[in-house]
Amino acid sequence: MTSTPVTLQMAPRGRRPKPPRHLADLSHDERVDVLAELGHAPLRAKQLATHYFTHLTADPERMTDLPAAARGELVEALLPQLLTPVRTLTADRGKTVKSLWRLFDGVSVESVLMRYPRRATLCISSQVGCGMACPFCATGQLGLTRNLSVGEIVEQVRLAAAALEAGEVAGGPGRLTNIVFMGMGEPLANYKTVMGAVRRFVAPAPEGFGMSARNVTVSTVGLVPAIDKLAAEGIPVTLALSLHAPDDELRDELIPVNSRWKVDEALDAAYRFFEATGRRVSIEYALIRDMNDHGWRASLLADKLLARGKGWVHVNPIPLNPTPGSRWTASDPAVEAEFVARLRAAGIPTTVRDTRGSDIDGACGQLAAQEAE
Ligand code: SAH
Repeated sequence: MTSTPVTLQMAPRGRRPKPPRHLADLSHDERVDVLAELGHAPLRAKQLATHYFTHLTADPERMTDLPAAARGELVEALLPQLLTPVRTLTADRGKTVKSLWRLFDGVSVESVLMRYPRRATLCISSQVGCGMACPFCATGQLGLTRNLSVGEIVEQVRLAAAALEAGEVAGGPGRLTNIVFMGMGEPLANYKTVMGAVRRFVAPAPEGFGMSARNVTVSTVGLVPAIDKLAAEGIPVTLALSLHAPDDELRDELIPVNSRWKVDEALDAAYRFFEATGRRVSIEYALIRDMNDHGWRASLLADKLLARGKGWVHVNPIPLNPTPGSRWTASDPAVEAEFVARLRAAGIPTTVRDTRGSDIDGACGQLAAQEAE
């Protein structure tokens, strides 16, 4: 780790004010301490956590088991409003909802809810902007402003789950089943916070939402040490590796961090993740016309995956969502079909991902939240 040609852009430390303290940032004991300072009984901690994680509410009016006179103060102390809705855009007859949120310091992030017949997936952000600088990704063009806090990440989930439950999303009342860290940011570059949020997603109520870890997907450009750390957490989340090219020559260009961790190193780490967790890894592959969509690259990808074993991986090609100002566009459908056919013929399970929300700039790689600041 001495001479690295790429400077990973880390969030500037210390210089920014922190988001207001939130229940999701704190352990149970820390919540009790905060409450004690205000003169409230320890049992209020569990009551507030139940309202938040089970009833999905931060509305004092609904907390009828708390003394009316104390509700406002309790909510202010542990459930401050961290995300203010700025704009909501819908597509697919209301089944795709993109939300733009303003944070306490005036910056913005986006999240996207996608409703399918038997599941509802929320795509969340882990950072304001992103430091990974992938040239085909809108967020990558913004640079990194700051990391989100646990509370800011968990609130994206709580608000989406509450909207679904309240029947505010087309299709009637429903439940949030899946979470993907595929919004703005590189989750593994905000590791500790992202893990804190993941723990809240999977912890049983009232310490968390009680979701299944396998339904939480952490998507990464391939920060190898962080992938190994994630594998050792003992939380069987799904790992997605944004590969986009099977050869270093091209991946160096598409994923700048490839100059630090090469294709083979990223794939080895992904395989170790599978070995440690038993969870099949997803390989993300945005198909970019005449860039990475050649048949030989599909075959090379299949070879590299099979060289490591069988049944440990599947590939998710996705037609590139063009971003403003980019010279790149999606592959020709026939070329895409050939790419997929080659992978399948080699025995690699392959599912083309849909491009939901592209008409509201809510599809993969399009989140930019330009009205920030
Ligand atoms: N930093 C994480 C999460 C980013 S967004 C990562 O890189 O994995 C999730 C996925 O969308 C990644 O696979 C990313 O490469 C992909 N993506 C980015 N821009 C895209 C675009 N314009 N079209 C299609 N997919 C894109």
